[in-house]
Amino acid sequence: MQYSRRHFIKTSAALATGLSVASLPAGVNAGQKGMKPSSSGNSLSSLLPAGGKTGGKAGGKAPSAKMKLSWKAYDLALKHTFTISGFSRKSTPVVLTKIECDGVTGYGEASLPPYLGETQASVIEFLKKVDLSRFSTPMHMEDILTYVDNIAINNSAAKASVDIALHDLVGKMIGAPWHNMYGLDKTEVPDTTFTIGIDNDEVVKEKTREALGDFNILKVKVGGPDDKRMIKAIRSVTDLPLAVDANQGWKERGEALDMIHWLKEEGIVMVEQPMPKLKLDDIAWLTEESPLPIFADESVQRLSDLHRLKGVFSGINIKLMKCTGMREAWKMRNLAEALGMKVMMGCMTETSCAISAAAQLYSGMDFADLDGALLIANDCFEGATLQNGKIIASDLPGIGVVPKKETAI
Ligand code: MG
Repeated sequence: MQYSRRHFIKTSAALATGLSVASLPAGVNAGQKGMKPSSSGNSLSSLLPAGGKTGGKAGGKAPSAKMKLSWKAYDLALKHTFTISGFSRKSTPVVLTKIECDGVTGYGEASLPPYLGETQASVIEFLKKVDLSRFSTPMHMEDILTYVDNIAINNSAAKASVDIALHDLVGKMIGAPWHNMYGLDKTEVPDTTFTIGIDNDEVVKEKTREALGDFNILKVKVGGPDDKRMIKAIRSVTDLPLAVDANQGWKERGEALDMIHWLKEEGIVMVEQPMPKLKLDDIAWLTEESPLPIFADESVQRLSDLHRLKGVFSGINIKLMKCTGMREAWKMRNLAEALGMKVMMGCMTETSCAISAAAQLYSGMDFADLDGALLIANDCFEGATLQNGKIIASDLPGIGVVPKKETAI
């Protein structure tokens, strides 16, 4: 009887999170026949909500405990004024979220760069509509996140803040980091780019020198009259590979192709969003002619965008804040690969909370742009870290983060 109940809990929880039991990490399988259940540590039965430990019977309902969602507005202070094609700013508003359930807390985040249209007020208004008490267990992630997605259209960063917190909570309850549950080697990740914003030559050279040693690839914001000057300034300091992001800045496809040929000679390895997001015919022509891979950023938001972008771009830039979080990012990654497209993982200016969530699922991708937490002076989480030019997730369960003590979340 004891075995049956534990076996049911283990199996139902694993199925609910899309896992095979065999894929769970060592400590999670403590309920196997002939093994003593551990009273502490990270065995699944010890981590499940109270109802799962004390109630129910074989074949009964899944463990039940109510989830509580809460949030806090927070402003990220940027280390340097950030300039991209058309915008300049010194801070980024975010909303930090948490979902508590049976003594376990999952953390999430919505990052809100002003040009994307969401605000702290709109996120909080959305979160007030989210009623997680209607669900009996956080393990039913597909049901919960489908419900959240259907509350309102858009609000993708607000939805991501719930998605990330739920993933963190469920990973902690199971006792495993998500990169293990996805079956990924967290160290087999592409180097992260470090972004050099548009600025005068002296500032560009200084920022480039600061990045040397820590990064193996830099990203340059282009898309205007300063493009060649910026690249030459960086090339006077380093021969590191460079990615460029035009942020829709090139308006004419012939000029864009000329520029891409010039960039290829300068050691650039990829181009992000060369032209306005709706100019798909021009971009398809450019991708066909280009000697460098062309990635969609502004042209792609969610899973449903992918089919129309096949044959238009070489690859897509997946960002949790655009696509509503980890659940959809994982689906996008898999669909893009099935369509024969390249994939990169990107980010906004974010704390280590959202960056650590992204770090769970980008092993094996072609490029990464996960420098968001490195650009801020008041990161309120510890989690994924920069190691030899790569952002590497921690081994902690869930998304692998710990809030810093000085920050009450
Ligand atoms: Mg971009």
